[in-house]
Amino acid sequence: MKDGNTCRLCLKSSELQESHIIPRAIIKLIRDEGLDNRFYELRNKLTQKIQDGPKEYLLCDDCEQKIGRYEKYFIEAVHFSKHDIEIKHNRQFGIIDNLNYRKIKLFFLSLLWRMSISSLPEFENVCIGGNEETIRKMIVREEAGDSSEYSVIATILLFSQKMEEGLLTTAFVSKRRPSVYAIVLGGILYQISSAHQNSFFPAELLLNESDRWIMPLTDFYDIPFLREYIDHHFEQ
Ligand SMILES: [Zn+2]
Repeated sequence: MKDGNTCRLCLKSSELQESHIIPRAIIKLIRDEGLDNRFYELRNKLTQKIQDGPKEYLLCDDCEQKIGRYEKYFIEAVHFSKHDIEIKHNRQFGIIDNLNYRKIKLFFLSLLWRMSISSLPEFENVCIGGNEETIRKMIVREEAGDSSEYSVIATILLFSQKMEEGLLTTAFVSKRRPSVYAIVLGGILYQISSAHQNSFFPAELLLNESDRWIMPLTDFYDIPFLREYIDHHFEQ
């Protein structure tokens, strides 16, 4: 370990844990036997089955557990409707109610931060520069910031009118807006702004301080970079 044993989050010297960059619970969704249509791809150009997801020595045990709590909340709320979460759908939107903004925002901050500090090839295109340090401090202090800071929006992807929770992709950087990173986790496309303030995203769709998050439903193939990704990786 070239950085010795310094935890990247709290900066204390400690024995480091192997951290998952993508939450392990998301990997488990892919491997869920109940899902009939699964994707395994993470690495560019190499088709490989994900066993345990990409991981790297980054954090001390305390920090790993801190981030783990946000991951747990994220997956339990969005995919298993725990914590009194209510999820409704109509033809255009999925609507999640009773969401804890602070916990879920800290999950996305920690995801963006981990992808950026990671040296793994899956995340080499994620580089948020000086925002790494700003976000590190927010995570240490457990401050989620307001909805306009490092904003997050989500789109539920449909295949033949159905959501596909087994879908996971690597991270994409927007060509038009270089400060926006996109990743599909559990069949939902998340776009995270690495700009401290941005006005690109529609305000009504932001993950925000109310307890409601509105996610549009969109056919997977209507999103050009995802269509290209699938065409590139899964053509026979
Ligand atoms: Zn630490």
